Amino acid sequence: MEARREEPCLPVEALVVGPIQNNVYLIGGDGGLLVVDPGSEPERILQAIGDRKVDAIVLTHCHWDHVGAAKALRDATGAPVAAGAVDAPVICGDAILGSSHQPFDPCPVDVALHDGDILEAAGGRWQVVETPGHTPGGICLFLDGGEGGGRPILVSGDTLFRGTHGRTDFAGGDPAAMQESLRRLAQLPPDTLVLPGHNEPSTIAAERRWIG
Ligand SMILES: [Zn+2]
Repeated sequence: MEARREEPCLPVEALVVGPIQNNVYLIGGDGGLLVVDPGSEPERILQAIGDRKVDAIVLTHCHWDHVGAAKALRDATGAPVAAGAVDAPVICGDAILGSSHQPFDPCPVDVALHDGDILEAAGGRWQVVETPGHTPGGICLFLDGGEGGGRPILVSGDTLFRGTHGRTDFAGGDPAAMQESLRRLAQLPPDTLVLPGHNEPSTIAAERRWIG
C-alpha cells in the first residue's frame, strides 16, 4: 500500500507498442516532450504526440524492440535522437551486436551520451547514468524535480524492472556489470518513480528490497 500518491515532477504518458509490449514514454507538458524508446508503431506514437514539440528522442539501448520506430519519428518530427555512446554504432547501423535480435531500421544518433552528461528536454535537466549489463551501452536517465518539484523520475530501460532486472544472456550482456549498475541506481532517492522498458512502473524504494 502506498501511503500517498505524489505526482512525478513532469507529466508522464505511456504507450505499449509492438509484439513484446514495449513501453514508450512521452514525458513533459505542452512546452516540449522527451520521447523514450519508440520501438514500433510510429503512427500511433505520432498521434499521441499530436501537435506538441518533441525536444529529443532518447533510446535507452540498441535492441530492436526499443529503437524500431526511432528513424520514422526522427524524420517526422525533426527531433534529435540521443543514445549512449557505446550502443550508438549499433543503432545507426555501423555495427552489429550478436545475431540473436531482429534487424531494425537503423537510425542516426545525433547526440552520443556519456555517464554524467546532462540532456536538456521537456524543461528538465536529465542526468545520464551509464548502466551496462543488459547491453554494453545501455543508459538510464534521471530527473530530480528539486525541492517541492514532485517525484524524481528514472527512465530505466531494460536495466531495472519492477521486481527484477534485464536479461544478461543476450550478446554483450554482462551479469557483473548489471549488478554494479543496479547498485548505482539503488543510491537514487527512494521516492523516485521508475519507468521501465516493459511492464509496470515502480519506485526505487520498492526495488531496493532486492537489489544488493
Ligand atoms: Zn533490451
